[in-house]
Amino acid sequence: MLADMRRGLFGGTFDPPHLGHLVMADAALDQLDVADVAWVTAGDPWQKAGSTVAPADDRLQMTALAVDGMDGMLIDDSEVRRDGPTYTVDTLEAWQADGVTAVLVVGADAAAGIPGWHRAEAFDDVEIAVAPRPGTTHADVEAALGRTVIWLDTPELAISATDLRRRFAVGLSTRHLVPDPVRAYAISRQLYDR
Ligand code: ATP
Repeated sequence: MLADMRRGLFGGTFDPPHLGHLVMADAALDQLDVADVAWVTAGDPWQKAGSTVAPADDRLQMTALAVDGMDGMLIDDSEVRRDGPTYTVDTLEAWQADGVTAVLVVGADAAAGIPGWHRAEAFDDVEIAVAPRPGTTHADVEAALGRTVIWLDTPELAISATDLRRRFAVGLSTRHLVPDPVRAYAISRQLYDR
């Protein structure tokens, strides 16, 4: 049982994990009073229902490759292992039961959508740290949430997994946008071939 431990809760589809994710996770570890940052890979992301998502085990493997050897970065496979749809609130409550205080780490676009999350009220007392992302301002996020958030100090990076999947599919370079071991994995498993 861990007591009084604060941990960044960084959820994502990670299809694939990319430099935008690494920069924000590092900022969270550096700028928040947390012991570590857990990358929680979504198993069956309800918000992406209807779109094609790479198998959860592949996304989990890529996320492990992305943070391999980095102090303070943890891989959390609990949402992949859990049956049924993935809800961040389930992870939040599992951590609370273990005495771990979560600090939610989200990009600005995702932050603005938190009021629509499953059982969103469970996050009312949770600190939220937000990474800048083109298209959504700090003011937009606070207006959407009706509360203040911690605004992480990072550059805005116009990198998205959607664009990277397209790049892989059409054969454009993804070098420097995706960690090399992740690129090699995605290519060898033909995850984004059309
Ligand atoms: P997709 O393009 O498939 O929607 P994504 O690039 O947004 O994917 P996710 O795995 O869905 O990646 O995102 C996980 C979290 O990381 C979300 O909170 C999202 O807002 C955030 N995030 C992803 N890319 C960036 C970025 N470039 N800058 C800031 N936040 C980001």
